[in-house]
Amino acid sequence: MAEKKMSAGKKLEKQLAWSYPHIAKEAPEQIEKAQEFAEGYKHFLTVCKTERECVNYAEAALIEAGYERFDSGKTYRAGDKVYEINRGKAILATVFGSRDIREGVRINGAHIDSPRLDLKPNPLYEKKELAYFKTHYYGGIRKYQWGTIPLAMHGVVIRKDFTVVNFRIGEDEGDPVFCISDLLPHLAAKQNERKLAEGLRGEELNIIIGSVPYPDDDVREPFRIRILQILNEKYGITERDFARAEIEMVPADKPRDIGFDRSLVGAYGQDDRVCAYPALMAQLATENPEYTTVTILTDKEEIGSVGNTGLHSDYVRNYITWLAQNQGADPKEVFENSACLSADVNAAYDPTFSDVFEDQNASYLNHGVVLTKYTGARGKSGSSDASAEFMAKVIDIMDRSKVYWQIGELGAVDAGGGGTIAQFVAMMNIDVVDLGVPVLSMHAPFEITSKLDIYNTYLAFRAFYE
Ligand code: MN
Ligand code: MN
Repeated sequence: MAEKKMSAGKKLEKQLAWSYPHIAKEAPEQIEKAQEFAEGYKHFLTVCKTERECVNYAEAALIEAGYERFDSGKTYRAGDKVYEINRGKAILATVFGSRDIREGVRINGAHIDSPRLDLKPNPLYEKKELAYFKTHYYGGIRKYQWGTIPLAMHGVVIRKDFTVVNFRIGEDEGDPVFCISDLLPHLAAKQNERKLAEGLRGEELNIIIGSVPYPDDDVREPFRIRILQILNEKYGITERDFARAEIEMVPADKPRDIGFDRSLVGAYGQDDRVCAYPALMAQLATENPEYTTVTILTDKEEIGSVGNTGLHSDYVRNYITWLAQNQGADPKEVFENSACLSADVNAAYDPTFSDVFEDQNASYLNHGVVLTKYTGARGKSGSSDASAEFMAKVIDIMDRSKVYWQIGELGAVDAGGGGTIAQFVAMMNIDVVDLGVPVLSMHAPFEITSKLDIYNTYLAFRAFYE
């Protein structure tokens, strides 16, 4: 084919200007690899709907790959693999590197908690011949999205004798599910006048769990008693045991491919398991790295990284301190030289709601992993804001490994905002930047991501560890 002569302006444009390419246009060979990677990811989402389930999954995978529980009494050498678990709800994994640990560790931190409806500590009641659970939502949800969808019950109850009952109801084909009702349009005239944020109110997020009474006229609340009878027969618990429980009600749907081309994944809990899974896979694939790796799968990000299983706690600081001491290094030196990818999602540009995005600085589906220099709200408040030097370092790592990446802000200025674990990593005097997958309908019961972006997020995490 004869080459068309390029104009001077076109040449300049090619030399100087930049726009982030669509991966399928530039690297169509990645489509199949991304499809394949997504199969493992969808399985992970199917079996991991709570932070505890993620920790169990990760621990099993790490043990199978030859990881051992970290033992401060042992001295580890390059190539040794260890992990540590924080209270069953957060997990840390490490391969010791060939370089001196004083040169710092490479950290990749994702969170494994997702927005959901938690049961209240005294959840059970009946009203007009229906039995219900009361809930208190966890994380930033849009409440109206949680009515009229099938819900599954996950979590633990600790009995009086400290034995643990694990719940996972609503995931198997034959299981029942649970549901929050909403009004029919015929009678919703008054409800329609409410603001969207109050479409369903917090105290209206009540879950239907039964409708048949215990057959005894002497019982004042026979619908409630019938449910207690079933719970006691099946799980050996009583009403009082709910005070010793963490029960999470989550969407009962399974992950699905979206689109005729099957290019997207639709599922609950992708924020931030869409980063947690590639992070875990990158950790498992890393053998004999230069820098010691620390993969963090943490809890409580969705409510501000609070509590002793969230990043605001010292558990990660302590773990890295132990690693440093194990290698005879001053932890302060290790922190100062360490680098971290705060692996979290960003909002993908949504053409239907374009006004909340600034299109030149938004992230787009299928344009790769998003490098988010800062998050925050009202002038970057609550952000970490990575330095130009650290941005250069991370971009160089990705460019050298031919990872498709893009920049992204979390929406237009003053359209809203949010935070990640980055600010808490930065508190340890570690260089950190947010890097993750763009998501449509973030925090909804069914979130949307691109398989090509997920695959490139995995490639980014691998490159960072190599
Ligand atoms: Mn997140
Ligand atoms: Mn989130």
